[in-house]
Amino acid sequence: MRRTIAILAVALVVVAAAVVLYVRRPGPADDVRIPATPSRILIVGIDGLDWPRVNRLADEGRMPNVARMRSEGSSGILHSIRPFVSPTIWTCIATGKTEEKHGISGFVVNTPDSADDSPTTSNMRKAKAVWQILSAAERSVGVIGWLVTYPADVVNGYLISSHVTLGLSAKRESRAPNQTDEWFSEGVHPRSIWSEVADNVYHEEDVGDSIIESFIATSMERAKQEEKVRTASLAKFYASDMTSLTLARHFFETRPADFSAVYFRGSDITSHFFWRFMEPESWKRELPEGAVETFSPVVERYYALADSLLGEMLELVDDDTVVLLVSDHGFAGHRGYRGFEGDVAVGIEMHREDGIIFISGPGIKRGGSIEGASVLDVTPTVLALAGLPAARDMDGRPLTEVMSGTFLERHPVVYIESYEVGDASDGDLTPVESPVDDEIREMLRSLGYID
Ligand SMILES: [Zn+2]
Repeated sequence: MRRTIAILAVALVVVAAAVVLYVRRPGPADDVRIPATPSRILIVGIDGLDWPRVNRLADEGRMPNVARMRSEGSSGILHSIRPFVSPTIWTCIATGKTEEKHGISGFVVNTPDSADDSPTTSNMRKAKAVWQILSAAERSVGVIGWLVTYPADVVNGYLISSHVTLGLSAKRESRAPNQTDEWFSEGVHPRSIWSEVADNVYHEEDVGDSIIESFIATSMERAKQEEKVRTASLAKFYASDMTSLTLARHFFETRPADFSAVYFRGSDITSHFFWRFMEPESWKRELPEGAVETFSPVVERYYALADSLLGEMLELVDDDTVVLLVSDHGFAGHRGYRGFEGDVAVGIEMHREDGIIFISGPGIKRGGSIEGASVLDVTPTVLALAGLPAARDMDGRPLTEVMSGTFLERHPVVYIESYEVGDASDGDLTPVESPVDDEIREMLRSLGYID
């Protein structure tokens, strides 16, 4: 026994010495910088960006920040999972697990107590989100607007839930009376950041005509004549994206975190509302010529806006940050028409499998292409980049092919069985009601997700 202990002690000293020598040894010349400690990480989540269109616009100089990430980092299709329902898929991205394991089955659930379907909420999640895993490992985190984050999780840092970013950006006059400061402060963690959140909101009523006119081919007057509701929706979701940006500007400056995640939804919504005017020939129903003329540029101009949001995010972080740009699914507007009658948009039928992933920063290969990546791989990859174990009960894998050999030598990928220990949650079956539920239901109806 004593001999075993002695051998173990000697072995430990040898290992410790080797580690010290290894870490002190200057890194070999490489075309990527290798962080001695794990990097900071930023996820920019942009809903519904479609792989071929993003690449073509990058080639044409209309998405210059994407083009830069493509040449300075690695990129590829991020395969989504059927059914392509955004809250479910963004939760797959945030947990590394399939819907059966994480429990968020869609936009809404039917509850016996309520006549209307209720939006799904974070208490229903059965798996830990990456920001909870990182918080438990004492990394600081900041999360802005990610889907299904209301009520706000307790994290080591701050979290501003998607209910709050949507509700706050909406017109003040259309707010229900129960949307009080008191309620809003429950949608953020910690509650003490509430006044800073409220001070950094972009309101829908501040979206001037000139902003809308920058997305369309004619005048605001014409746009209102052609499609008043669509024009109003453009203002609404532009405001919501600008709120996420404004909050990021403030919180990245005042509370830089080891891990940050920011979500933008406008590209998906504008694709639902305006794709048909971009490809009218693929739309079975005849569209008014005036509307086609007015709205044909909206989708691609919104993609260009998404690129400038990405550019701002890249400016807000330092050079030691690995940035991941991801979307939850691609988009194929015309396919959705099948089987639908009436004038409703066609919901998730318009989504398709090919989302995007771009990764760049220290330790990431330049100009690499990523094959066969899935939305389930994002969380295991983030954990590997953070120098933490991936878990065997996750359904995805760390995308080690994007990491340089030297990075992997210094930060080898390790696994544990599971992070669902101790306080593992079974997930509630009942969502938490909120004062923005009506607004969310109205949005889902306008997109054809619910009746
Ligand atoms: Zn989506």
